[in-house]
Amino acid sequence: MSDCIFCKIAKGEVPSELLLEKENLVAFRDLNPQAPTHILVIPKKHIVSLDQAEAEDRDLLGDLLLAVQEMAQRENLEMGYRVVLNIGTHGGQTVPHLHFHLLGGRSLQWPPG
Ligand code: 5GP
Ligand code: ZN
Repeated sequence: MSDCIFCKIAKGEVPSELLLEKENLVAFRDLNPQAPTHILVIPKKHIVSLDQAEAEDRDLLGDLLLAVQEMAQRENLEMGYRVVLNIGTHGGQTVPHLHFHLLGGRSLQWPPG
């Protein structure tokens, strides 16, 4: 989608601290980190949120989670980490392009606000 910031990051049209690129996804550091490690893992395909994912996206969704795991290993998050998927207004989603947050490097509180 032409006016989507994450599509632009995925295409390299907007700069980011890119950490991982695969055929169907990219991972980059969040601009406004909420933990020592805060990485976003996104599909190159524009999917607004999990709500809009379809059966044909099954492999892509699996690849995204495995990329999150790969980034956690690279960041040495042996003490644990959190994976967050915000969906829609009540879910706190601000960028309408599906993205997994990988948060780690400190003890995280529960429940979220
Ligand atoms: P959401 O609130 O939609 O779950 O998360 C969006 C995330 O994207 C936020 O954590 C925000 O800091 C991050 N973000 C928004 N715009 C940019 C950007 O242009 N570059 C990067 N690296 N992160 C961004
Ligand atoms: Zn997009």
